[in-house]
Amino acid sequence: MKSFVITLFSLLFSLGTYAQNSFEFYGKTVAAGTKQHFKVPISDGTIETFIPITVFCGAEQGPVLGITAGVHGYEYPPILAGQRLIKSINPKLLKGVVILVQIANVGSFSKRAPFINPLDGKNLNRSFPGDAKGTVTQKIANFITNNVIAKSDFFLDAHAGDAPEDLMAYAAYYSNTSMPEASQKGREMAKALLFDHVIVFKTDGKKYLKKNELSLYCSAEAFKRNIPSVDIECGKLGGTQDHLVRKIEKGVLNMLVHLQMLSVSNAVNNKYLFIDDRVYQSSNYNGIFYTEKKSGDYVTKGMKIGEITDYFGNTLETIYAKSNGVILLIIGTPPVNKGETLVTIGKVK
Ligand SMILES: [Zn+2]
Repeated sequence: MKSFVITLFSLLFSLGTYAQNSFEFYGKTVAAGTKQHFKVPISDGTIETFIPITVFCGAEQGPVLGITAGVHGYEYPPILAGQRLIKSINPKLLKGVVILVQIANVGSFSKRAPFINPLDGKNLNRSFPGDAKGTVTQKIANFITNNVIAKSDFFLDAHAGDAPEDLMAYAAYYSNTSMPEASQKGREMAKALLFDHVIVFKTDGKKYLKKNELSLYCSAEAFKRNIPSVDIECGKLGGTQDHLVRKIEKGVLNMLVHLQMLSVSNAVNNKYLFIDDRVYQSSNYNGIFYTEKKSGDYVTKGMKIGEITDYFGNTLETIYAKSNGVILLIIGTPPVNKGETLVTIGKVK
């Protein structure tokens, strides 16, 4: 509720009304009970790009939820879910404000470039909190940090498996023992997103969460500010997967009910498997990767996951699971590069 004028807010509250103040965004006023679209220009003087953002200002008072989609522009289901949310979040029924960044990385989206923004070669999800004087990707991060994250009481960053990533859908939340309240609220938000698996991002001792270090990740920047922060990973291999688009939309709407920002129905409870540790296995070679495993497959330690050959069919390395667990992510296309993550295994609690 950081963006409301506190005195007016308490006055209205004491009078027993529930009128939502209008919301200021990018120099414009979004009236209570309406939504407004913004196309925020970003330029380094030579390269021009923009950020499409929709701001929903509820008819009644409530918190501010920031949502980012398209931080990686080749991860389509969250972007398409955002397009659906334009219609399915009715500001007349909303309490509080939703700031929805439709496509944070339009350069990556329009040029069909996985991971990086081809305009400057940078990965937006390693660029936070950004730099007002930097390249366009750093400027995008800076804008989102100051105009979306800094205004939010709750934060969600939505991703999918990028072009080569066969990924199992999950929700995740940031956790730190020195921030019990933000951690616990994030956990409840992640549960409300209605995925079968919930992953804990344990941040104790993580460099990117230390005060004088760069947060790098979009949602880590939010959590660093003590804002309950969750991630979605839903969709894979650069596909659009309509059922996953709808799954994200449904999850976000349910989370809005959980946050008491929508009250169309009671929040649905789900049963979850919690994953509190992840094991990363990377490739020792450049070559061709073969596997019969898929995201969501359960493996036991020592089970064969696949093999890497050179470009003449000779086996360079056989990959065995280093842990029991479920495959969260696996490279699902043939090229592999030395040092790259081939497979991520989640240890199920
Ligand atoms: Zn991503």
